[in-house]
Order: sequence, then structure tokens, then C-alpha cells
Amino acid sequence: MKKNILIIGTGGTIAGKGKKGETAAYDSAQIQVDDLVAEIPELAELANLDSAELFSVDSCDVSFDKLLKLAKYINEKANDDKIDGFVVTHGTDTLEETAYFLNLTVKTKKPVVITGAMRPSTAISADGPFNLYQAVALATKDEAVGKGIMVVFSDSIFGARDISKINTFRTDAFNQRDFGCLGYMRDDKAYFFNKSTKLHTYKSEFDIKNIEKLPRVDIAMFCVDAETDILDYFANRSDGIILGGAGCGGSKTEWNNKIAEILASGKPVVRSSRVGNGLVTYRKDKIAEKGIFAGSLSPQKARILLSLALTKTKNLNEIQEIFEKY
Ligand code: ASP
Repeated sequence: MKKNILIIGTGGTIAGKGKKGETAAYDSAQIQVDDLVAEIPELAELANLDSAELFSVDSCDVSFDKLLKLAKYINEKANDDKIDGFVVTHGTDTLEETAYFLNLTVKTKKPVVITGAMRPSTAISADGPFNLYQAVALATKDEAVGKGIMVVFSDSIFGARDISKINTFRTDAFNQRDFGCLGYMRDDKAYFFNKSTKLHTYKSEFDIKNIEKLPRVDIAMFCVDAETDILDYFANRSDGIILGGAGCGGSKTEWNNKIAEILASGKPVVRSSRVGNGLVTYRKDKIAEKGIFAGSLSPQKARILLSLALTKTKNLNEIQEIFEKY
């Protein structure tokens, strides 16, 4: 029996239009999700489809408010017995942040698969239709149940926690860096090989049901000779700070001293790395002075987790434990 899949549109290049044939000059978020679906008749062979447009933006315009709206919507629809799985179409620029946010806040075992495109719908060899086809195919699979939020892109299946955008224009724009991918798609078939060991979706402790506004967390990117007063600015306006540190989360002495001051005032600072691979780890007895460490999370993903962690606790050691679990 065919499964029932809800396709949720949010905009992005997959819904983009530009000069016929070109890939570079276009506007994102021009086509409604119903029309995207209507252009791929083969989708109806995979599943019974319904679609809804939750918002329609370039993914750089996604906000925490929009993320809350999307997660709440999927949580509500996941209670509907008539829906077996979800596909979200999304811009690629911030797709990894949305994927990780949903991974932490959507409470279902039903498959949720995000996809997008690097080329607008009007390009020669637009990649959106096939990505969408494979995303719908994956959402119908029994093996996709309980795997957390997944991303289908360029014939591969990725996990929300570890996916990163790694190319600005090529169609194979994503990977999980050192962690490879969860598996492959070949036409409508899914082949799984790996899974994340971190908690997600139905095992996540984060409940956004009654949350209207998420705590404000900002990212301070360290670079040679960086000004220190950016940290004062964030210390005043933010509930927590992510350091995009050099190497293993490092920063210069003045920054280290300022970070120790901010931590002493009770505000969490998480050290992540601008490198893109490896781990940021420290001695746990130094958290109050050096900061919480982000493990393998990128600065932008650490920001999502710290914001959600702050809905539960302000205790630095408890936040560190959260960073180890998710
Ligand atoms: N700027 C676009 C977006 O993220 C890029 C894309 O979708 O590929 O919406």
C-alpha cells in the first residue's frame, strides 16, 4: 500500500527561478511547493502526496521564529495517523541549521527528510526534481523510521547532526566531513550504512510546545588580532556565546581572559572550532574558566544546541552534559 507523505515547502533555490538555462543569476523562493510537486508526475507513483507551504524564503531569511513554526507544525501533523512521513523543501545555505533544530525538537519516529537544490528550477539540468523524488522515496521507507531528521542530496542520505554545506555552487554541496554519510540513494532505493550515536527526535529532551521565543545566542568568530570588545557586546545582549575558535577552540589571551570573566558572571560560553573537522575538548574541571566545549559541532550547530539547552538549564556542567549527548 502506498504511504502518505506530506511535503512542506519553505522556499530556497529548489523553488528558485532565473534566466533560462543559467545557474548563477536567479531568485530563490519563487515557486509554490504545489507547483514543484506538479512538475514531477513520477512522485505520485511513490506515495500519496499532500503539500503545504509554511513560508517561502531564501534560507538566509530563516529565523528562530520560523524554525519554531516548522517544528511545531511537524509535531502537530505527526500525530495524524494518516500521515506516514514528511519531506521539507528548503534552501541549502542554512539547511544544516534547520535540520539540526528539527532533529532536537521534532518528537516522532516518522521519517522527516529535508532536501533542496543548488540549481534553480530554470537551469539546464536542475537538480531539484531528482533530489525531491529521492527525498519522497526515502520518506516512504520502513528503514527510515526512527533515524532522526535526514537530508537527501545528490544521491546521498545525510544525518541532521553532522551534515555540513561544503561547496558554494556544486550540486554535491553537502557531506558529513569525517563522518561520511548515512547511506546512498539509487533511484528510489535507499541503502543505509551508518547511524549517529547521538540522541535525536523521539529521544530528545527538548520540548518547544510552549516556547514562543528562544534564548538569544550569538557567535563570536576568532581571527588573528580580533577586537575584544565584540565579546563585551555579546556579553551584554546575548544569553550565551559560541566561540568559533581557531584550531581546538582557541583564542588569544585577551579573549581567554574576557571569556573567563563572562563565564564567572554566569553566562555560558561554548568553544567550538572554525576548522570543520575534529573535536573541541577540554578538561571538565576547567569549564568554569575556559568554557563548555562543543565536541564535533560546528559554531552554527553549537548555537542551536546552546539556545535549546538554555530552555532547560543555565548550569555550565549540565550544559556540558547536553553537548555530549546531542
Ligand atoms: N540562497 C539559497 C537558499 O539557501 C541557496 C540554495 O537554496 O541553494 O535559499
